[in-house]
Amino acid sequence: MKTIEQIKNVAVIGTGTMGPGIAQVFSQGSLNVLLYDIKVEQLEKATQTIQSSLKTFVETGYLTSKDADGTRNRISSTSNLKEAAQGADFVLEAVPEVLDIKKSIFNELDRLCPPDVILATNTSGLSITEIAKATRSPDRVVGMHWWNPPIIIPAIEVIKGELTSEETLNITKCLVTKIKKIPIIVKKDVPGFLGNRMQYALMREAISLLNEGVASAEDIDMMIKAGIGFKFPVIGPLETIDMAGVDIFYRVSQYLYGKLDQSPSPPAIVKEKVEKNELGLKTGKGFYDYTNVNIQALMAERIKKLLIILREIKM
Ligand code: NAD
Repeated sequence: MKTIEQIKNVAVIGTGTMGPGIAQVFSQGSLNVLLYDIKVEQLEKATQTIQSSLKTFVETGYLTSKDADGTRNRISSTSNLKEAAQGADFVLEAVPEVLDIKKSIFNELDRLCPPDVILATNTSGLSITEIAKATRSPDRVVGMHWWNPPIIIPAIEVIKGELTSEETLNITKCLVTKIKKIPIIVKKDVPGFLGNRMQYALMREAISLLNEGVASAEDIDMMIKAGIGFKFPVIGPLETIDMAGVDIFYRVSQYLYGKLDQSPSPPAIVKEKVEKNELGLKTGKGFYDYTNVNIQALMAERIKKLLIILREIKM
């Protein structure tokens, strides 16, 4: 595989919600980035998204205008997959979360990319092993799971599929460190990896509490934002147990575990919302109503607050 020093050009395949931010971070790490998408309009949109995100970074003092210019200039795009694949020293795929689409892209990338190039997938929880089986060289396929918004969230899960080589895993881990993110090594290719398993357990409980009328959506969210989630950047869940006392945790768990939501499938309320096209921010309604909300302003405000936390908290 190419060494970390040899990785200078990165291809990002798929530029929807995640691709543009991922490209920005690679570029901020002094790597040249070539964006590819099956739809040309997505490439144009990606350029605008990166432009406006860099503007926020400069306004908040997170980047100098010179660094923002450099970041912008290192990113280019192409609608030719062969061009993206052949010039890349490392490839990150961020196409839709559909196993067949991922498999077909990896099959093509495997044929187009030189054999010493790592092929990483941003899948949120599909099997890395299954995706890798679509290639002739599954040892170079690895999970590299970024969190939304990728320009902010420090952690990136690096997931070892059953066929991923140690070398691929280690180089990917070094690349995460090089772009000033925090690598989280996931040693087993389990569905949802680390982050989504924990996040979905929390979200399943949140929806169940809302469903049972225990609290409003606002109070459920505020319980996390101003309560247990407030300490998470400093104290993780296992550290929290140690802080409270394992004996206390044991006693509470004895009466609480059995009462927690155990549903094996998504609740009816979620299915109904999907059927009514209440998909959240993108359709103007989800668990909240955004009809009269300026969504761009809302997201810019969230990014600004997260940037403050990012700057103050040294992980
Ligand atoms: P998206 O649907 O917003 O974007 C996918 C992009 O891929 C689109 O621009 C689409 O035109 C393009 N595309 C479709 N087929 C393609 C092909 N064959 N070749 C090239 N481009 C193609 O998806 P997203 O939300 O950015 O998610 C991408 C991946 O990242 C998924 O695996 C998802 O699970 C994962 N992910 C998403 C989030 C999130 O919050 N959205 C967070 C972490 C990980």
